[in-house]
Amino acid sequence: MALKTPQQYIESLKDGRVVYIDGKRVDDVTTHPILKITNNWVATDYVMNLDPRYQDLLTDLDADGERVSFALQRQRTKEDLMRLREVVKLWARTCFGKPSGAKFVAKDGLNAVTVVSQRIDKKYGTNYAKNVEAYRKHLQKNDLAFAMGLTDVKGDRSLKPSQQVQHKDFYVRIVEERKDGIIVSGAKTHISQVAACNEVLVAPCHAMTKDDKDYAVAFGIPVNTKGITIISAAPEVNEGYSLFDHPITGSVYINDAMIVFDNVFIPNERIFLKGEWEFAGQVAYMFADFHRLSAETYKAMELELFTGAAVLMAEYNGIEKKPHIREKLTWLVMYTEMIETLGLAAVEHCIQEEGSDLVYPNPMIANICKFQFADNWHQATKYLQDISGGIVATCPSSKDFDNPETHDILDKYLAGKAGIPTEHRLRMIKLVREMSSSYEDVLTIHAEGSLEAQKLSILIMADFDRYKAAAKRAARIDDGKKHELFDNLPEFPPKL
Ligand SMILES: Cc1cc2nc3c(=O)[nH]c(=O)nc-3n(C[C@H](O)[C@H](O)[C@H](O)COP(=O)(O)OP(=O)(O)OC[C@H]3O[C@@H](n4cnc5c(N)ncnc54)[C@H](O)[C@@H]3O)c2cc1C
Repeated sequence: MALKTPQQYIESLKDGRVVYIDGKRVDDVTTHPILKITNNWVATDYVMNLDPRYQDLLTDLDADGERVSFALQRQRTKEDLMRLREVVKLWARTCFGKPSGAKFVAKDGLNAVTVVSQRIDKKYGTNYAKNVEAYRKHLQKNDLAFAMGLTDVKGDRSLKPSQQVQHKDFYVRIVEERKDGIIVSGAKTHISQVAACNEVLVAPCHAMTKDDKDYAVAFGIPVNTKGITIISAAPEVNEGYSLFDHPITGSVYINDAMIVFDNVFIPNERIFLKGEWEFAGQVAYMFADFHRLSAETYKAMELELFTGAAVLMAEYNGIEKKPHIREKLTWLVMYTEMIETLGLAAVEHCIQEEGSDLVYPNPMIANICKFQFADNWHQATKYLQDISGGIVATCPSSKDFDNPETHDILDKYLAGKAGIPTEHRLRMIKLVREMSSSYEDVLTIHAEGSLEAQKLSILIMADFDRYKAAAKRAARIDDGKKHELFDNLPEFPPKL
């Protein structure tokens, strides 16, 4: 059986990887009190794959009859994408809006290199598609957790990788070519859950020019490969944290870490792009196409939780029928359901990749969905914080609530509406504090690509000819340009 148990997964992380967190090198990530939060969150994937209640949805039989993760299969039809949505929804609902990360991000990178490697092979007669398929099989057969290393540290954003002034390693690059592989150096940043993964799939984060050809590189390697150092994101909780005070961050520490590559050897069979600079942007955009489905599906689940917290806080504070609160709750419901509906529409109108058996969500709709989610997030947190009250910032610690000397005082004075236990109100306040934190704000704006990235894609794909044809027809402008949608419409108004 290809599927790993959660225990086997945890054991697999004891491999000598170089990880730092909070100023210290970690000898064993499986025993570290904070890194364990990430490991257990990622392990949820392994727990659920073995649970008969979810196995039909989360797993598939491969060509050899072995049970493998469905997320690692190629998605060939609309039905496959619909199923993937259900997989992501289940992961996200289980883990408080944050899908367990074993395969969540990098499966989209795997699909991106699957598509683009075929295009490169076609143009240059290379063998990358074979490498990608062997890698996919390796991941499936060993049920590996893998992270997606796309975002480079980038240095001066106005300069191309090869133009950087301080040093040449702001983007991961090929520093040496050998007969049996390449040597790479540079750094990727914000790489979610990489310290809790077995492998990392690395690809360029944007388009490259001819001068940047050394930076056009994609590969997949084990996280414990010599020369790799991981520096974890500062954790949101300290040792001894309580789930009362930290309901989300005590359960999910995504650990969006920096990965440094210091002369790391990549064997030929693990390389998916090597210097074909004109395909670098295609990998980045194709990743985004696939990842939009993942992103907006889990975000709709996060919004269920978010809007639920807003409604409960309104009820606990006794204000749920007040007109301005009803207006805000209505807005939150529209926001939640809009994201769910747009995500669904992106799959309904999915695209078949030419010359491949892969489908991906409709990029126009998917980009609009992600943009709407991110762009409206601060409005949503404003409403949530407004409904909940200043107590979100000033609430005492659960230790004071648990202390017999102060418990009765807090229980009496921090009560809300009669009939609601004070403890319920305090727990919800703690949840609101985490849901509207600056970490969530920044994650929403930047993770899965900044707002401008979506706008750029939307602008490139916009069907301006259709819009212009509609406007010219109404203004009675005939400049000789035809549009199939408007040319055959009846004369309007009719001459009666
Ligand atoms: C919580 C979290 C998790 C993440 N997980 C992952 C992950 O698992 N894997 C991964 O690869 N990445 C991950 N990311 C990275 C994410 O994709 C990036 O944060 C995002 O693409 C923005 O890049 P940046 O953070 O470098 O911001 P910047 O690129 O520095 O953006 C800052 C501002 O500068 C603007 N800007 C940048 N360059 C230009 C330019 N040339 N011209 C004009 N304007 C420009 C941007 O539009 C933006 O307004 C994650 C990010 C977060 C916050």
